Amino acid sequence: MAMDAHHHHLPAYLAAALFLAFALAPLAAGDPLGQLCGNSSNYTLNGTYQGNIRRLAATLPKNTSSSPTLFAKDSTGDVPDIVYALALCRGDTNASACGDCVATAFTDAQQACPYNKDATVFYDPCLLRYSNQNFLASTAGDGRGTALILMNTQNVTAPFSVFDNAVAVLLNAIANYAADNSTKRFGTGVEGFRTFDSNNPRIYGLAQCTPDTTPADCRTCLSGIVQRGPKYFSGKQGGRILGLRCNYRYEQYSFFTSTPLLQLPEPAVGAPPPAPSPPPVNGTPPTTGGGRRNKTGRILAIALPIFAGVLAIVVICSCLWRSKKKTSGKSLLPDTTNPEDIHSIDSLIIDLSTLRAATENFDEANKLGEGGFGAVYKGILPDNQEIAVKRLSQSSRQGIEELKNELVLVAKLQHKNLVRLVGVCLEDHERLLVYEYMPNKSLDTILFDSERCGELDWGKRFKIVNGIARGLQYLHEDSQVKIIHRDLKASNVLLDYDFNPKISDFGLARLFENDQTQDVTNRVVGTYGYMAPEYAMRGHYSIKSDVFSFGVLILEIVTGRRNGGSYSTDESADLLSLVWEHWTTGTLVEIMDSSLSSLAPRDQMLKCIHIGLLCVQDNPTERPMMSTVNVMLSSSTVTLQAPSRPAFCIPKSGFNSEMYSEGYPGGLYSASRSPMSLNDVSITELDPR
Ligand code: ATP
Ligand code: MG
Repeated sequence: MAMDAHHHHLPAYLAAALFLAFALAPLAAGDPLGQLCGNSSNYTLNGTYQGNIRRLAATLPKNTSSSPTLFAKDSTGDVPDIVYALALCRGDTNASACGDCVATAFTDAQQACPYNKDATVFYDPCLLRYSNQNFLASTAGDGRGTALILMNTQNVTAPFSVFDNAVAVLLNAIANYAADNSTKRFGTGVEGFRTFDSNNPRIYGLAQCTPDTTPADCRTCLSGIVQRGPKYFSGKQGGRILGLRCNYRYEQYSFFTSTPLLQLPEPAVGAPPPAPSPPPVNGTPPTTGGGRRNKTGRILAIALPIFAGVLAIVVICSCLWRSKKKTSGKSLLPDTTNPEDIHSIDSLIIDLSTLRAATENFDEANKLGEGGFGAVYKGILPDNQEIAVKRLSQSSRQGIEELKNELVLVAKLQHKNLVRLVGVCLEDHERLLVYEYMPNKSLDTILFDSERCGELDWGKRFKIVNGIARGLQYLHEDSQVKIIHRDLKASNVLLDYDFNPKISDFGLARLFENDQTQDVTNRVVGTYGYMAPEYAMRGHYSIKSDVFSFGVLILEIVTGRRNGGSYSTDESADLLSLVWEHWTTGTLVEIMDSSLSSLAPRDQMLKCIHIGLLCVQDNPTERPMMSTVNVMLSSSTVTLQAPSRPAFCIPKSGFNSEMYSEGYPGGLYSASRSPMSLNDVSITELDPR
């Protein structure tokens, strides 16, 4: 719980710590970035197949590290126990780190894909695959095969299309270099880029193929994955697609050890997008220098980008200005000059001195917890009313007037399943929100506490599920303004003395919506375990992404297991896969919270899981509206549709991440990633081989 309360503060300093670790030991194997387990067949413990894996594990690491191209492939044994394997280290890895990484990969792969004859693991410095199928035979890859996709979720502060174009120019140049000019089939590069804030980051890129590919195959493979990039990474500060035969990565910081092999100038704004597939440009990469131009040409070459740049700035500024106006307009009440509204903000205002007195000057002893927006303190007003004071740590981009309007709006949302905002204080740079105090704190403090979870019998849990569903329906469909919560989770469900649930922190996301600072991007990218895939990956939020979070919450309530929020135990990793597995095998009873009495009504519990699964379906349009959920919950006659496979969210050892499968042919797969970049989101794509 203590850890959880600090959840949102982890990113800042952990990211810094991890960055340091990363800088000091850039190519230590660490945790896998991800693994892909085939679904072909299993081997037996200590059988011939595993013996063959071990034989390769004894030789392949050394073969890889001693090869000048840091690449090795091999096979051993006879059909049916023959094992094929391939290992590749990143082109800038030193030999000993390379060997260590491949050795680690053999161990991890057997653990990550237990008894699976086909396993692939990816790390920063290396990758390994072994399989009973001869995948070594073909070096051709069109980039559409198995790939791990990792995204840096931070957005760039520049128009996405301009940035995406610059990334494509850089990656295509590096791809050409790797294919044509490098026996290692490895290239790195850096490119100038200008954003509209003061820091002008550069873009760093890396691309690599397995050295056994022909230049043409390498180019085809890389151009395939480079083209898939914008689908996932549009406007993102970094991204990587890791395939078996080729991979690339780009970031706004230097993430490789060697000096970049290519140095590109900033591409002109409005330059045509780089050459499409199959090969990026045949022949020379578009590096600096090049042919001679005449005088007019040179003047044009200088003047045009400047002109285009100025034009772009003007256009963007006016767009930003307009969108700002639009958003502020949206957050205003229908009639802002209405005296009643002015009255309502006045009646909400509480003096700073009153709140200081109530919380004993924000004494640490009164601190209830801390979330992404700041710390929360318990307090007692002079009339003995108990309150919870949320001290916002970051300032909203909104002006004070807009903030007031927004808060009036939040205060007007009143429902028995929403926490009431009783006041605000906007004095002396303090931004304080005052809520009614909830004596039973948040749901997570009881549900995930092995000693306290028994307090929540089935009757209470069902009441909580129903209450959250009603509160959410009110926000989505019934209140005067449609509100998307965006951060629905167990810690944002508070319980009153009688365990009636009340949703908290609704409307807060709106206060920070416009803010482009990193903190807020981190914040809004929020709580991974609960995020719908389309929100996690593309920032698309809608009432259906809230429905997804609600689905996760129901599954947590019935099973008593946390989805991806656990920092210490592994047992709850990836609740959605677990529930789905038991759903398909008809063994749901096994995963219901063991602290629930065996007399609890099974049909109600099963219905809750069923509804939960409907809510976490991959396709947002298939997820029900909250009003439908409420009908399902209250009616005993309605028949529910069969849910489709959920989007899987698989966290790894304390760090949350999203795995997302597109068109996976069947069976369960598992995947994980390292905490190397906290803002990464990973996606696994498997195309039938
Ligand atoms: P987020 O910032 O995403 O909402 P969070 O819910 O974990 O994350 P806070 O909302 O800051 O963080 O709340 C911190 C803790 O304070 C909560 O976990 C809850 O236990 C407690 N808390 C918050 N509001 C109240 C309240 N009105 N009454 C009692 N306890 C509260
Ligand atoms: Mg909260």
